[in-house]
Formats: sequence, structure tokens, C-alpha cells
Amino acid sequence: MKSITLHLGREKSLARRHPWVFSGAIGRVDGDPELGETVDVLDAKGNFLAKAAYSPYSNIRARAWSWLVEDVDADFLRKRLDTAIRRRGDLESQPYNSQRLVHAESDGIPGLIVDRYGDDLLVMQVLTAGAEYWRDTLADLLVELTGVPNIYERSDVDVRSLEGLKPRVGALRGTLPETIILEEYGVKFKVDIVNGHKTGFYLDQCESRHLVGQLAKDRDVLNCFSYTGGFSIHAAAGGAKSVLSIDSSGDALKLGAENAVLNGQASSMHEWLEADVFKQLRTFRDSRKDFDMIILDPPKFAPTISQVKKATRGYKDINLLAFKLLRPGGILVTFSCSGGVDASLFQKIVAGAALDANVDAQIVQKLGQGTDHPIALNFPEGEYLKGLVCQI
Ligand code: SAH
Repeated sequence: MKSITLHLGREKSLARRHPWVFSGAIGRVDGDPELGETVDVLDAKGNFLAKAAYSPYSNIRARAWSWLVEDVDADFLRKRLDTAIRRRGDLESQPYNSQRLVHAESDGIPGLIVDRYGDDLLVMQVLTAGAEYWRDTLADLLVELTGVPNIYERSDVDVRSLEGLKPRVGALRGTLPETIILEEYGVKFKVDIVNGHKTGFYLDQCESRHLVGQLAKDRDVLNCFSYTGGFSIHAAAGGAKSVLSIDSSGDALKLGAENAVLNGQASSMHEWLEADVFKQLRTFRDSRKDFDMIILDPPKFAPTISQVKKATRGYKDINLLAFKLLRPGGILVTFSCSGGVDASLFQKIVAGAALDANVDAQIVQKLGQGTDHPIALNFPEGEYLKGLVCQI
């Protein structure tokens, strides 16, 4: 039997159904399991704790599939995928045509991300040895359960190297449709599946983009870290007076401008600026430029707890500058997607920024990742995106 046996006392986190087993907790490995193979996890006395995927190169040495004595096979995975898909409800009845179908650990399938783009395409990201071991089975099951014939793989994320896996991209089932148009709340976006970030689009911000559209009427809007214009197009559709989008990626901005055309928006409404947000906000401050609404949706400054200090400085910096650029009555919509910065720390940082900018601000709404990115209670790490809508 292939198994790993934990050191005495190291079973506590698995007993609370947290799915990760760290290398330091493991006393013995028996049966020579291969990369990603299913093993029994036993406590120091030999009692069964969980079925888990073995990952010999990762510091997270095993990820639990189940706390029951059951086979991890195609039927097991079909049930997990089916539950995840059903949890999202019927896409037809939603105000969007794309959503995350599988959110890894939070859906009981460690290391697997699946995003659905309309009826034509699933994009799959395989992050861990366990998900890699079952990759073909998972792809077949996804086609069977969704009826979507095409799966494109975007397993080109850095974390794979920690698992001893090489990056891999390309069509996994069917072909990649030539054009993917995402729709959410009446707004359309062209998505670059091959070169775009994540699986092509930031699906996790769908609800917040819609909210920004509702708040933007008659406002001069500055969208920082705009990517392909997600918040910008919604703001313009919601009746903004003008929208200035800043990103360091020229390609993302080019697609943003295409998305404005796709939605029939006047080009005079938009300005697309390739720049570093940290520098550009200072330039605006020095030239006394101001706005009625500012969106800050930066990339992860602190993927893990070890970079929190540096990340805190980064968030403080841009939020402070943004508060200074707001006109009276202005709205700041500010986010952090850093796993290492929790909601309460983020709120403290934003409060400190308001204080140093010498503005009185109120939180009028708290935001987070969409419901298609659920947070399992036994896996708090699944909560990564937090946002605040502040008004001065
Ligand atoms: N709000 C967007 C997603 C933003 S992702 C949406 O809803 O689709 C973060 C973006 O920040 C990326 O497009 C990345 O190119 C950009 N970026 C990262 N660092 C930057 C910097 N220092 N200045 C400007 N843009 C930056």
C-alpha cells in the first residue's frame, strides 16, 4: 500500500479538514508513490486520516482528496466536478456568459482551475502534481459534464515549477475558437485566451465591474491597472463623463480600445495610457489633476505572507495618492488580491492612506471575489480578493 505516515501530533490540521500536508509533518513514505499518485495519509499510530495526492518536490507534500476510505478514480472525480458545476447554477439564467467552474481546493479538486467562456470553450489550468496525474480523465469528464467540446490548457503558471512540472499550453480537447467574446451585464469583451493573463480574463471581478458601471454616471473616471478595460468599459457604459485607463501592458490597452469599439463607445470617451501607475499617479499629483472616481486593481503585491511588509507599502502608496487625486464626493474603488494581506489588514492600510492624504473617507461597500470563486470554510486560503468602495 502506498502511504505517508505523519509525525506524532502533526495530524491536527488534516483532522480539521485543511487539505494541505507540509513536508515537515511527514515521518515516513511507503510504497514509492509516483508524482501525483494517490496515497493514504496515516497518523503516527497508523490510523487512516485521508486520501491525498502525493507531490514529492513540493513543500506542500500532499493534498487531500477525501477524508473517507474511498477510491480516487474517474467516478470520484465525476462527482466532484458535477457538484462544482451544479453549484454555479444554470449559466443561461445569469447576466453573464462566462464563469469559473472549478476553483481548486475550494471545490474539493486541489490544483484544478476551470473557466468557462460561453458555450464554446473551457480553459483549464493544472497547478499541482495531483491534478496533473488526472489531467486526461479530468478533461474527458469536463467535456462529458458541460457539453463544451473545446478545452484549451493554460498551465503556464510559476507555481507548477514548485511541483516539478513544466509549463504546458495548447488545445487539450477540440480546437481553440478563433474569437472569444465574453458578455457580462450587457457589456462585451474580446478575450485573448492564448496571451492574456490568467485564463484570459479576470472573471473574479465580474460583479465589481458591474457595480462600478452603476456608480460611474457623470464622473471623470481613472482606472488604474486597467488590463483590457474591464472597469473602463463598464464605467463608460454606465454613463461616465470620461475614462482614463492606465496599464503597463501595451497589448492589454490595445485590446481595451478594441473593446470600447466592440461596445459602440465613442473613442473620445476613452484615453488609454501605457505607464507605470506608481509614477503616473505622482505626475497627476504634481500637475494637480483630479477625478471623480478612481479604481485601483493592482496585481498581487504579496502572494504569500513573507512579502506582506513590502506589499503594505505598495498599497499604502497608491491608495494615498488616489485619495489626494479625488475631488470632494469622489469615489475610490480599491482592491487587493494578495493572499498574504487579509481583509482587516487591507482596511487598515486604506485607513492609513486616507489619514495621511488628509481626507475623511467612508466605506460605503465591501467587495470580494464573485460567487463562482467560492471559499471553502476549511480552506481560508481560498479567499484572496478584497475590495472597498470609499467615498470622501
Ligand atoms: N481590473 C482588471 C484586471 C487588472 S490585473 C480587469 O477587471 O480586467 C492587473 C493589471 O496591472 C495587469 O493588466 C498588469 O499589466 C498591470 N500592471 C502591473 N503592474 C503595473 C504597474 N506598475 N503599472 C501599471 N500597470 C501595471
